[in-house]
Formats: sequence, C-alpha cells, structure tokens
Amino acid sequence: MYHAHPNPNEVDMRSLLNLIVAITLVSAVFSQTTPQPAVTVIRAGTLIDGKSDQPRRDQVIVIRGNRIESVSDASAARTPAGAAVIDLSHATVLPGLIDSHTHIFLQGEDPAQGGYDANILKYPLAFRAARATVAARRALEQGFTTLRDLETEGAGYGDVGIKEAIEGGYIPGPRMLVVTRAISSTGGYNLEGYAPELDMPKGAQIIDGPVEARKAAREQLDHGADWIKVYMTHRSWVGKKGELVSQPTLTVEELKAIVDEAHGWGKKVACHAYNGIGLQRALDGGCDSLEHGLEITDAQIAQMVKQGTWYCATLAAYYHDWAPADTPAGQRDRQRVAAHGVSFQKALKAGVKIVFGTDMGGILWTEPMAQEFPRMAEFGMSPIEIIKSATSRAADMLDMTGQIGVLAPGAYADIVAVNGDPLHDISALGAVTFVMKDGGVFKNENK
Ligand SMILES: [Zn+2]
Repeated sequence: MYHAHPNPNEVDMRSLLNLIVAITLVSAVFSQTTPQPAVTVIRAGTLIDGKSDQPRRDQVIVIRGNRIESVSDASAARTPAGAAVIDLSHATVLPGLIDSHTHIFLQGEDPAQGGYDANILKYPLAFRAARATVAARRALEQGFTTLRDLETEGAGYGDVGIKEAIEGGYIPGPRMLVVTRAISSTGGYNLEGYAPELDMPKGAQIIDGPVEARKAAREQLDHGADWIKVYMTHRSWVGKKGELVSQPTLTVEELKAIVDEAHGWGKKVACHAYNGIGLQRALDGGCDSLEHGLEITDAQIAQMVKQGTWYCATLAAYYHDWAPADTPAGQRDRQRVAAHGVSFQKALKAGVKIVFGTDMGGILWTEPMAQEFPRMAEFGMSPIEIIKSATSRAADMLDMTGQIGVLAPGAYADIVAVNGDPLHDISALGAVTFVMKDGGVFKNENK
C-alpha cells in the first residue's frame, strides 16, 4: 500500500543539488589528475572471438586497463600513442579459457600417497592451501583465466580465501567462482569405512531433511559461495543385468530447498549425478548444471533441453585409474565410460547446453587440462563448439555474458594465444603460448 509522505522542503532539495554539483566537480578534477590506464595493443594473426563461428585474420585488439576497448581489422586500426604492442601475428588468439569443473584443493588422490582420506586426515589446512595455490597457478599458465571450482573436499571455505588472495594480487591465478563445502546426505560422502564409534570428518557438508539442506545452503552462501554444489549420487556399481547403478543421496524435497534458497540469492546449483534415481531427482529438483551425467536417458535429455539444464560431462576424468578388468570395480570403471560417450553424443544431438569441464584435482594437477578437448571431439563435438563450451557458453552459464569468454569491446582483457589452428586440431589448445588476465601479461613465449 502507498503512504503519502510530506514533500521534501526546498532547502533539502537545494543542498542535494549542491552536493551533486560538488561531486561532479571533484570527479572531473580527479579524472584530469589521475593517469589514464595503460594501453596495450595485441596484433592477432588469427582471432577466434569465442562467440562467432568464423575466425578473422589480421586483427588488432586494443586493451585499456583491464578491459578490451576495441577489436578491429589491422588495416583499419590505429595504435594509440604510447601503447605497448604485443605481436601475436603468427598465433591464433582466443578469449581466456574457462574450466567449469575443477578442484584446486584435490591432488589426484594417489593411493600410494594415502588416497583421498590422507588429504583430510594428515595435511594441515595451510599445506592444502599452499598446494591449491600451485593448482591455481597451473590453471592460469595453461590459459584458463576462469575456474568454477566445485568444492574444497574437506578444506572448508579455503576456496574463498584463495579467491581473495588472487583478487588481491597476492598470488597469480584465474578468476574463481567457488562453491565452498558442497552438500550431500548421511551415507553420501567420504570419509567412510571407519569404525562407527568414530565421528569422522566428511569431504562435504552432510544434511538430512529440507530444513538442514536450506540451512547448509544459507551458511555456504553467507560465507562466500558463488554457486552451490550438491551430490545427488554417491557410490556406483554394476548391477545384476550388467547395468550401471548409482546410489541416490538427497531427496527431491531436500534439493528443492537448496535450489530455492540459492536462486533467491541470485546463485545457481551444480549437481553431481551419474545416472538413475539420483540424476532424475537432480532434474526434478531443478538443478542448473548437471555434473558428469554418465548415463542420461532420452527422457532425461529432453527434460534437460526443456529446463535449460547445463551439462558439464568431464569425460577425460573417467579414463584414469581403472581397476583391473576382472574386478567389480574394474567392470564399473569400463561401464562408466561406455555409457558416458553415448550420453554425450545424445546430449550434443539434442542441443543440450554443454560446457567444458575437466574435474582437475580428481586428475593430478601436473597433467594437462587440455586432455578434455580431444575427448569432446572424439564424441562428435566440432572444434568451434568445443571452443565455445570453454568460452562464451561457459560465460553464459556463469552469468558473465560479455564479461568473459569473448573478445569484444567491454569484456575483461582475458586473452590467450596458441600456435597452430585449433579449428583443424583441437589439441592445439594444449599448447598455450600467451596468457593475459585482466590486462596483465602472465605468460608470453612469443617474444
Ligand atoms: Zn568433481
């Protein structure tokens, strides 16, 4: 209901106007005395802008401060006076890459090093943070200027801290969108297999019931989560008919409480789900991005298209560390990849929005992140679509359209270059020779 207020008196209005005039004058003086942000010019032999299907030859990118000011044909471009020029005229220039599924706090879980459990049970948080710092740097030097990092695996809110350290300029690293602790249910996450009398720490925040689910989401959002990560399946095995079976975790009601809460904060929810009941609950509960999706039925694919659900398949991760073929675990490992490729092909054909993700951390950070690119090509995705999945399409999912994942005026100056032509051989993206983030050159092997 509208309540009438007394009109502001004239004196108030006049003092307000005076204040506006004063601010305008101060800012005019300030902008005259403040040095203009540095201007950099990049000459690009071939430019793939992340959005359009066609590459362009001989382009000039003008960067002012941390933003792209213009992209134009070299013949028409004017180099601003005093600009630093970077010559990438023999390279292919692209937007900084986006990996939508990483774990900077995981280190490959080498069983010889004590596996997943040792990470939580033995290492001080500062040690884990130091290693996460190295992981962040590794991602940046491979051309990934943005990561959606999908849980700290028992390192609490450490990802928020690493993100702050990067943003503060203390350590090099990509733009980080972080989820903090992630959420699963009782019986739905490691550590497990210890004496029931022991109260073991868990790699995710454990909830039971919609009230606890919502509370966990609130806590995580309150402490800096950019996204919420939910585990909708946990264990998986091969069933009686040779089929892949996954244990479901949260109920639809629990997930709905989390999604409702996150959406209220203007944030999204990523759901880890392999297949079956848990994957169905993920879709029915309204998750925004499906992680892994090893086996997706035709009906579920149709539901994803209808609901606009993003798909981050992380194909390459499932080709690692297979158990021997004659063991139940080994059969499960083989069953996973067989189903995964089929799901990816179906999703591609149906027009599901696919984003690039590696699950690094599950894979050792010493391994190349680019190994996911040829896997996507293997299952029928064209090079330009793969590039978009790691640039403009990921930016759309992250609600950063036009800010990242594109070489266009107004975008952050996150720019990479490779030798060779990734449109002919997508594995060219595995050899990034130039990395700029926020207008600052982090790596340049083209000198
Ligand atoms: Zn993961």
